[in-house]
Amino acid sequence: MKVFVCADLEGVGCVVRSEHTSPGGREYDRARRFFTAEVNAAVDAAFSAGATDVLVADSHNVGLNLLPELLDARARLVLGGPRPLAMVEGIQEGFDAVLFVGAHVMSGTPDAAIPHIFHGRVAELRVNDLRIGEMGLNALLVGHYNAPVVFVSGDEAACAEAKNLLPGVECVAVKRGVGAYAAISHVPSRCVELIAAGVRQALARKEQCRPLRTTEPVQLRVRFTTASGADRAARLPGAVREEPMEVSYTAKDMLEAFKAFNTMADEVEAVPFI
Ligand SMILES: [Zn+2]
Repeated sequence: MKVFVCADLEGVGCVVRSEHTSPGGREYDRARRFFTAEVNAAVDAAFSAGATDVLVADSHNVGLNLLPELLDARARLVLGGPRPLAMVEGIQEGFDAVLFVGAHVMSGTPDAAIPHIFHGRVAELRVNDLRIGEMGLNALLVGHYNAPVVFVSGDEAACAEAKNLLPGVECVAVKRGVGAYAAISHVPSRCVELIAAGVRQALARKEQCRPLRTTEPVQLRVRFTTASGADRAARLPGAVREEPMEVSYTAKDMLEAFKAFNTMADEVEAVPFI
């Protein structure tokens, strides 16, 4: 059994603000240790549930957050960026199950830790009229490679978003958001216990989960937080300006839709003003 772990930082226990998630933030080094411990709990549980290969993608910021020297020696690690499939780079190898550790909700969700999609300038993302965030985007992309998401950890809101999107998924809430940048959290030693138990459970009944797929062609709609964001995104050949702040793109499949979204998001992020 091959298991892929997509690991993000915002949904890790006791991580609530940019002081934790921004390299250089005063709590960042501590957050990296919490992050590495939660990923290790998932990796160890995957091996004890019968995994023969576990690939971990460090998928926050530029992919340099997990502490490799403290990671379970049986895992392989995807790190750095940019990378062709961004947060799920490596899924092309083919996997039997996918775990999302440290996941967070889409922008606009109340009482949820650090809600966003890639960065703060994407307000809303729709794929064939399904409103999604990073979780949905990554689930559809791993679904394109025929892999089911069987486990999600994050805050309570991330678990609710996951259950809505992924029937049968096993979810572990490590904290409950109080507004966007505060939470009532389990402490790290309890988070790792919950994640280990959840991953074992998820892999024991992984047949209940199916790869998430959408119909083709894939219609992508991206609403930005500013009209100038949409100006830049609309430069992508094939993109159509639908509304002052919204751009659409019709792709032949989910992989092309993902590449279009990632290109637009990067184009908008590259310019550090409105
Ligand atoms: Zn992140």
